[in-house]
Amino acid sequence: MKIRISTILPLALLLTAGVFVLTSNAADKEKKKAPKAHPTGYTDTPFLPGDKWRVHDDTRPRPKVVTSGKKAGEAPSDAIVLFDGSDLSQWKKEDGSAGAWIVKEGYMEVPPKKSGKGGYLFTKKEFGDMQLHIEWRTPEEVVGNSQGRGNSGILLMGQYEVQVLDSYDNKTYADGQASALYGWKPPLVNASRKPGEWQTYDIIFEAPKFDDAGKVTKKAYVTVIHNGVLTQHRQVYLGKTGHKSVATYKKHPAKMSFKLQDHGNPMRYRNVWVRELDFSSND
Ligand code: MG
Repeated sequence: MKIRISTILPLALLLTAGVFVLTSNAADKEKKKAPKAHPTGYTDTPFLPGDKWRVHDDTRPRPKVVTSGKKAGEAPSDAIVLFDGSDLSQWKKEDGSAGAWIVKEGYMEVPPKKSGKGGYLFTKKEFGDMQLHIEWRTPEEVVGNSQGRGNSGILLMGQYEVQVLDSYDNKTYADGQASALYGWKPPLVNASRKPGEWQTYDIIFEAPKFDDAGKVTKKAYVTVIHNGVLTQHRQVYLGKTGHKSVATYKKHPAKMSFKLQDHGNPMRYRNVWVRELDFSSND
């Protein structure tokens, strides 16, 4: 068959045009994909008041990376796990001997008084500023009333209490209910769950500081989130928690154990972890 040049030429032109369109579309797409170059910081902006860093300073160290837990309440990568449900290896009695609370089914429980295994449970490790996650449960069967019902407490640095109590439909003094700074500040709200239900505290604690003469130069502060509800917002402590007395500060080391109170009720704790913090550069 004879192919005429008049047939081939338009076809060749069409093909060339097609290839050109395809190539230029690809180039356009490539151009669209390339993101605009945003600066990672600046070196010509004003200095922050009294600081060595400029606004958006490109040379300012970036925060370290922490991998969060997969679910709410799970320990992040930089946490010190104090109780994962298996043993009391991170805990001791006041005299330094091994902690002897009951451990079973992933929780620890205040033992009966007659067992002789109770008493305050202290962390072996000592802490100053910190973030604490702790879960607790009051007995399902309600026994007693007011402060006699589901009572325990978390004494930060062994001194400053965040009260643990069955405060579900349980009348007691406001500064003694769950999430209160005992004998000082009631919680902002009562976020308590029913007896027998697990509850959570997420606590951010700022340790106090003292001068050489023993005078407090920075008081202790605490933020408490109870079951996801803010109950104390950077609340200052009056001093070391007491009973029927006004708290006062007494000089102590920069880091100390915190302790869980044995108040004679079979209270349970689980999933306890701490992130050590240092707020000294925040002021
Ligand atoms: Mg208590």
